Amino acid sequence: MERTLFEPEHELFRESYRKFLDQHVAPYHAQWEEQNIVDRSVWVEAGKQGFLGTAVPEEFGGGGVEDFRYNAVIAEETTRGGFSGIGFTLHNDVVAPYLVGLANDEQKKRWLPGFCSGELITAIAMTEPGTGSDLQGIKTRAVRDGDHWVLNGSKTFITNGINADLVVVVAQTDPDKGAQGFSLLVVERGMEGFERGRNLDKIGMKAQDTAELSFTDVRVPAENLLGEEGMGFIYLMQNLPQERLSIAVVAAAAMESALDMTIQYCRDRKAFGKPIGKFQNTRFVLAELATETTAVRVLIDRFIEMLNAKTLTVQEAAMAKWWSTEKQVELIDRCLQLHGGYGYMKEYPIAKAYLDSRVQTIYGGTTEIMKEIIGRGLNL
Ligand SMILES: Cc1cc2nc3c(=O)[nH]c(=O)nc-3n(C[C@H](O)[C@H](O)[C@H](O)COP(=O)(O)OP(=O)(O)OC[C@H]3O[C@@H](n4cnc5c(N)ncnc54)[C@H](O)[C@@H]3O)c2cc1C
Repeated sequence: MERTLFEPEHELFRESYRKFLDQHVAPYHAQWEEQNIVDRSVWVEAGKQGFLGTAVPEEFGGGGVEDFRYNAVIAEETTRGGFSGIGFTLHNDVVAPYLVGLANDEQKKRWLPGFCSGELITAIAMTEPGTGSDLQGIKTRAVRDGDHWVLNGSKTFITNGINADLVVVVAQTDPDKGAQGFSLLVVERGMEGFERGRNLDKIGMKAQDTAELSFTDVRVPAENLLGEEGMGFIYLMQNLPQERLSIAVVAAAAMESALDMTIQYCRDRKAFGKPIGKFQNTRFVLAELATETTAVRVLIDRFIEMLNAKTLTVQEAAMAKWWSTEKQVELIDRCLQLHGGYGYMKEYPIAKAYLDSRVQTIYGGTTEIMKEIIGRGLNL
């Protein structure tokens, strides 16, 4: 399908990002999958080439353009290459809006140059061992003590958790105030009492470090409070739509890529004396998958335009997230089936896509929670 979303400058950006992936990611990704983490040097190289912080103002070393199409290019190309270990989308799409939108001038000077150079890798820590979907159940607690917050609690499933230098931590600062009792604190590498637990052993996204974090009497300086005290939950609600659309962008690209590789496979693989693509069943399955991929693509491209125009609603972002990721998981499963036994072999990219995709309907808010959000908006 011809796409009308991008301008020539985005395509140039895509070309240079592809070169970066070819040169600095492709040769190492298998090794990173073995070690369950990417080398920090790839972040610094990405920073050098301008792929981190496109939306960060130029005075802090960023690209200075608030245009999610650049983020989409990075997500699409990273996904097409199968480079699921690269945590740039979490950094650019999820954490950047908190830092750019909420940090004061002093914090921006302190954090944004490193954010853009790749020297300060970021993470966001909402989920806890006891609570994920129910964010209001967060128990991590910060108590004010003079010019510090004393932070206690633990988080889990944190993307970039091992490599992260700055972690935006969601903490309860006033338990009596319910949803108005949460704040965002930026915890920095090396703060006493901030420990990393296991780099979690996942079924897919093997090169991505996803970790447990713990905070024991961490004295976080008051100047590391992000935005206003008590506003944490509102900030999350404001920023989660972009996070969800980012996941949906990955879903659309993953569908296109799985479909392409499967069509090629069905042309090449022979059974009963002819390519398996010649069987009517194969053609019908691929026809259905091509239709669904096109439908997801149209929706996501339109929603990217709406995000840029600041008109994408919380409900629409939830629609994009659940529908595209469910379609992605279903499509990849059906594509794997068309690969026969080879689809079950890890050396085939469809097998990797299968393992990498499964989490998409879970993180960033599960399918069920997305449907709750949409349902609530229907005033039933
Ligand atoms: C690889 C990976 C990376 C992640 N990265 C991050 C990160 O960087 N930062 C971060 O903070 N978190 C991260 N997460 C956590 C992720 O967002 C949560 O796992 C997710 O929100 C679900 O929470 P949970 O695991 O506690 O599941 P639960 O909330 O325990 O849900 C279990 C099941 O119950 C269902 N359920 C729960 N409530 C309802 C309801 N009201 N109605 C119907 N069904 C319901 C859920 O849909 C799900 O099917 C990551 C997770 C993974 C696996």
